[in-house]
Amino acid sequence: MSATTRPRASATSCHTVIVGGGLAGLAAAAALVEQGVSVSVLESRRRCGGRAASFEDPVGGGLVDACQHVAMGCCTNFLDLCTKTGLAGTLRRDRTLWFIGADGTRAACTPAQSLPAPLHLAPLLSSMRHFSFVEKVRLAMGMLRMARWRGADDPTGLSAGAWLREIGQPTRVIELFWQPVIESALGESLDLVSVPAARKVVRDAFLANRSAADLYVPLEPLGTLFGDRLVAWLEREAVEIRTGCAVTGLERDGSGNVRGVVHDGTMVPCDAVILAVPWKQAARLVPDLVPPADERLTGSPITAIHLWFDRDVIDLPHAVLVGRVSQWVFRGDEAAGRGYCQVVISASRGLLGGDRAALVETVVDELRTVFPAVASARLVEARVVTDPTAVLSVRPGVEAARPPARTRVPNLFLAGDWTATGWPSTMEGAVRSGRLAADSLLAWSGRAATTLAADLPRSWLMRWLAG
Ligand SMILES: Cc1cc2nc3c(=O)[nH]c(=O)nc-3n(C[C@H](O)[C@H](O)[C@H](O)COP(=O)(O)OP(=O)(O)OC[C@H]3O[C@@H](n4cnc5c(N)ncnc54)[C@H](O)[C@@H]3O)c2cc1C
Repeated sequence: MSATTRPRASATSCHTVIVGGGLAGLAAAAALVEQGVSVSVLESRRRCGGRAASFEDPVGGGLVDACQHVAMGCCTNFLDLCTKTGLAGTLRRDRTLWFIGADGTRAACTPAQSLPAPLHLAPLLSSMRHFSFVEKVRLAMGMLRMARWRGADDPTGLSAGAWLREIGQPTRVIELFWQPVIESALGESLDLVSVPAARKVVRDAFLANRSAADLYVPLEPLGTLFGDRLVAWLEREAVEIRTGCAVTGLERDGSGNVRGVVHDGTMVPCDAVILAVPWKQAARLVPDLVPPADERLTGSPITAIHLWFDRDVIDLPHAVLVGRVSQWVFRGDEAAGRGYCQVVISASRGLLGGDRAALVETVVDELRTVFPAVASARLVEARVVTDPTAVLSVRPGVEAARPPARTRVPNLFLAGDWTATGWPSTMEGAVRSGRLAADSLLAWSGRAATTLAADLPRSWLMRWLAG
């Protein structure tokens, strides 16, 4: 029987195997089980959650996140998943963004709730005392030009950094605003990311809506949130979760459809598969669908420096450290133990030649200049954790290499933050990809449903300004 004439399973009778228990796979499972689909998730590690992971705290006990994750108000699908699965109360919403300028001055940037977007950012601009009036006007103009940019995602296209220089953004504005903001949002260097990727951040995460830039910070370790709580919710909904279960192959029938996945030499039969693994693993499992060496799909590294002092040293919940090696600092919550803080550095390739001791020294020195309590504190323990392929590097041309959820094989679907979601590689991108794969699977099984949450609405002023 040909692939197109194969009788389709109804949504309820269709047993789906999801390979990969990261956020993409778990989001797909949540979306499908809500539609009455029977689901098994097969995850190779001992705990689900994928890159949103934690490790054992060597000082205080409990768990510490391998790298601090934050979401923003514009991450509507991630926030919707948290609400639906009872996790919303485990996120803290910070409306104020703290910036610490190169000279040490602190700026508390709180968007105005009484003004329509993007005017709500006026207080943010005015609080950046490290910029002159002219620099602030140029920055605002640069943001608007970025939001109005209409170019195609051309592989020969300029990087966002080159484009900003071309439109005359002052060097100080690039170094002290564009670089920290874009690099931390996209996890990649300003001189490598595409203009459309940077535009997405500027438009959707800052200009479009008064709540878009709100920062959502997990109050519990990621391992607890996703590895325990989200998994427990799914299990209550009758999703089967199998950890420590690495899939080594997919079994196809004569017409090319998938009829099962192989684990430990045994076939696990199913009607459909969602492959929710990173691109390298996907290329190994389905080399006919994901080319093994597509140089357009490259990872970008992120480094977290975990510091345990003998007392609390950070007097802010978080801060963006402008013009320094350290980019963000997060104060540990009570669960992480007193005196714990974490510094995050995106696009960290080649950082201080890979010398970890020098990196810790540099970061602690920088903290000492902005948080006086560091001077009298004793550093008890330090850990440097780098994920060399933390996120997909969103360079010019990458969009053409990101595959959609639907594949040539009718009952095989792709998910993961690297697939074509229109979003950078983030928790929101991962959740969207899982929901897009679920929607494609439901459509294949004869059910039209959209499980995607709506974006935040753009204000009338923003729609008019962005054309
Ligand atoms: C250091 C760092 C910092 C980050 N900071 C942020 C942030 O602040 N905000 C944000 O939104 N995002 C952040 N991200 C990105 C975010 O973590 C990812 O976008 C998201 O978790 C990706 O989810 P995923 O499900 O697509 O992939 P993954 O999390 O990689 O999940 C894939 C899963 O598949 C499993 N798997 C692989 N092969 C197999 C196999 N053969 N069989 C079974 N299972 C398999 C893996 O073990 C893994 O659990 C960060 C990422 C890193 C690494």
